[in-house]
Parts: sequence; structure tokens; C-alpha cells
Amino acid sequence: MLNLYNTLTRQKEVFEPIEPPFVGMYLCGPTVYGDAHLGHARAALTFDVLYRYLKYLGYKVRYVRNITDVGHLTDDGDQGEDKLQKFAKANKLEPMEVAQKYTDDYNTDISALNILRPTIEPRASGHIPEQIEMIEQILKNGFAYISNGSVYFDVVKYNEVFGYGELSGRNIEEIISGSRENLEGGSEKRHPADFALWKQADPSHLMKWNSPWSVGFPGWHIECSAMSTKYLGQKYDIHGGGLDLIFPHHEAEIAQSNACNHAPGFEHYGEAKYWVHNNMITLDGQKMGKSLGNAISMRQFYDGSHRLLEQAYKPITIRFFILQAHYRSTLDFSNTALQAAEKALKRIGEAMERLDAIQTENRLIAVNEDFEKNLATFRSDCEAQMDDDMNTARTIARIFEALPVINQLYADRSNGFAVSPTTFEAFRAAFHTIIEDVLGLKIEKVSNGDSDKLIDGLMQVITQIRLDARKDKNFKVSDFIRDELGKFSIKLKDTPQGTEWTKE
Ligand SMILES: [Zn+2]
Repeated sequence: MLNLYNTLTRQKEVFEPIEPPFVGMYLCGPTVYGDAHLGHARAALTFDVLYRYLKYLGYKVRYVRNITDVGHLTDDGDQGEDKLQKFAKANKLEPMEVAQKYTDDYNTDISALNILRPTIEPRASGHIPEQIEMIEQILKNGFAYISNGSVYFDVVKYNEVFGYGELSGRNIEEIISGSRENLEGGSEKRHPADFALWKQADPSHLMKWNSPWSVGFPGWHIECSAMSTKYLGQKYDIHGGGLDLIFPHHEAEIAQSNACNHAPGFEHYGEAKYWVHNNMITLDGQKMGKSLGNAISMRQFYDGSHRLLEQAYKPITIRFFILQAHYRSTLDFSNTALQAAEKALKRIGEAMERLDAIQTENRLIAVNEDFEKNLATFRSDCEAQMDDDMNTARTIARIFEALPVINQLYADRSNGFAVSPTTFEAFRAAFHTIIEDVLGLKIEKVSNGDSDKLIDGLMQVITQIRLDARKDKNFKVSDFIRDELGKFSIKLKDTPQGTEWTKE
């Protein structure tokens, strides 16, 4: 049974969807004004694996990942300029041109990591009426107020009724003392913890819409409440995002959704039943992020162009690198770690090819109990790790435990077979499913199919002739074979199981 760590309750919980077999999942997507970087990749990848695993378990998942193209201000709060608009003005572009370009680029760069597209990808700017409607309902329910054409969420009032801070664990006093805003001198807000639902736009503002209160634009948080409610309902199963979104963004989302959808006293779900957050990727222990100036974009990883990169890295290497850590652990980036990931992945790729080359009609010799057990428990062991709060790190460790068995069976393949064919075939299917479908690692073929199978077959014939010649002490023939193969850079190594060959 799948267990997930729920930030809302601060413990691992058995995952029980509200209406099985359906699962609704919402992930806060990117603010589209720059290239996707490793931080974006980790969030998208964490929930890609959850999405894949839920489907593997048989759930029917509606997966919504939004595009933020309006309302996200440069200070991540209610101050500063809209991030997209700032970029658009600096580059003499229409804000929607910025949004379109970076939405397309995001999808290209993220899809390269074999991350599945969500089932719905709504844009904030395409849901202005839904956001206005929600703000109207919050006002009607008495949890917001109008001030100078803008609308603010009344955190103090909400706190009295529902209790604010249930997700982040911050209380209202901490929020005030942590606030950078100074309310003295004619602020529109009644309280420093209040946040904007709608902001009146000044004349130079580019992205603005009519509303009952002013020509303006929505606050950053309301879009996710409006879009998740529209597509997943007032209460749904999973809301995901990076840890850095817990406060204020997700805290505000919960408050908005409760204030809009649930009358006081109503048992509420905090919008989603399970709040799942992935940890950050660090660079030499420092948080990585666009606003911090040390983010390496996915494109730079793919072409190796960033000054911190020693080489270009394939998307699958990055995917594997990220999955080697549990999603709630920090993950420190380094070239060494990525290069180690590249090597480790190659070992899995080689084993998978060998696995596929093994034919089970080979004679069964005595069953090796250790091998048999290793293969027979593979699928359930991997499932147990994935069930334990999506532990991809330990799932990968289990895959590595199977590699020596695969390699040995491959080496023995012409002499006999040490596991039962039923166990072997079930294992072969599980090995592919766990690696390719659940972890989403699209293993590239090291060799290329039929022609390599032919070469492998021919090499077995040649090495067998050489072994027979040696047995007959016909060294003229055996040396001739070795020397001639050497001209093609093929090296032979005699082992108790037979002759192995490698091409240098
Ligand atoms: Zn969001």
C-alpha cells in the first residue's frame, strides 16, 4: 500500500484517494519568464514518478500542472513588478510572447527528461473569470476586503475561524515578524500578513483585466486555488510542489480555498488531502535558483555550455541522478556525482541488453537458490520501496542487487540455466516495467539490435571453434583466430564459463 509523507499532518500516511480509482493531482508549474533549470526539473520529475507509480498501481489520474503567466511579482509577495512583464519590457516583447516562448521551451526541456505531460496544463491568464468569481465568493463569505481598488485576503479573520498556518506551522505572530513590508504610511492592507487577491494596475501595467473592483490583475496565489477547484473539485487528493512553495504560496492557497468553498465549521481538507513537497537541489550546499543567479538551465546541461559543467550531460543521466536521491532529501549537484550517475546507468543498460539476449529454452541445470530468490522477489521488493513514500533511491539500489545475477546468467547462457524459466520471465518483465515505466528511465541500447545479435552469434561460433582447437592442441588454428580477431580490436578472455569477447 502506498504511503506518502503529508506536509499537512507531518507524517507518512497510507494513501487513500477520496474517490478510488480516480486520483486528482495538482502541481504548481513554472512561472514562464526564463529557461527551466534543475530546480524545475526536480519538481516536475518527482511528480512524474508519482504520476507513473499511481498509474502503475491502477489508479486513473487526472494530473493538472499549471503555467503561471501572470501575477507572480518580483518579490514573491505583493510588491514589485510582474516577473513576466519586467522581462517583456526589457526585451520589447508582448508579455504573452514571453509566456509562449518559455512555455514551449519548458515543455521541450522537461519532456527531454522523459517527463510525461500532465493531462491538463491550464494557464493563469486563461482563467481570469474563474479567479474573479472565486474572489467574489471569498468577499461574500467575509474573508476579504476591498481597499483602493485592490482586494486583500483577511488573514486575521481567517485565522480566527480556520486557523492560519496549518501547512507551514507558522503562527500569525511569526508571519508578521518575518514580513518585509512596513504598513505605516498609508498601506492598503489592514494587517501585514494579509495578501493580495486582486491588485489595481497602474497605467503602465501591461497585463490587466476588467473586474468589479478595478482594472487590474490577480494575486499570485489565487490562480492555483481557482484552477485546481475548476478541474479537480473543492477537495481533491494530492497537491505537489517544491518545499519553497509551502509558505506563502501553498498556505495562501489553502486559506483561499477554504474561505471560498467551505462555510465556517465545515470539516475541511486543506484543499488537498495530501500535500507533497520535494526538497531543493543545492550547488556546493547553496540553494539553486534563477533569482539567486546560480541556476544551471536544462539546456546548458544538455549542451555543456555552463562554466560549472565539465561536459554535456544526457537528459537520462540527469533523470537518473535526481532519482538516486529520495525526493525529500536535498540533492547536491556536482560533476563528479553526475559522471558517477552516467557510469551507473551504463551498467544498468548493459545488464538490460544481456537480460534481453538470454533465451530461456536453454537447458535448466540445478536451480541456484540465491539467484532464484533474488529474481523472484524483485518486483515486490521494488514495490515495497516505492510504497514507502516513493523511495526511488532504494528502488535503484534493489535494481543494482539484481545486476550480478543477470550478468552471471548471461555468462552461463550457453552452458545451462540456473533459475526456473517462469521466475526468469516474470523477472524480465518486472525489470523492464520498474525501470522504464515506473522510474521512466528510457535505457538507450548500447548495441543496435539485429546486427549485434548476429555478431554475437557469429562470435560464439568462432570462439567455440577456437576452444575446440585448443582442446585438440591445434594451436595453429587457435592462435590464428586470436590474431585475426585482434586486428579488429577484439579481445578474448577465457573464463571457466567459456570465452568472453570485448571490442576495444
Ligand atoms: Zn501554485
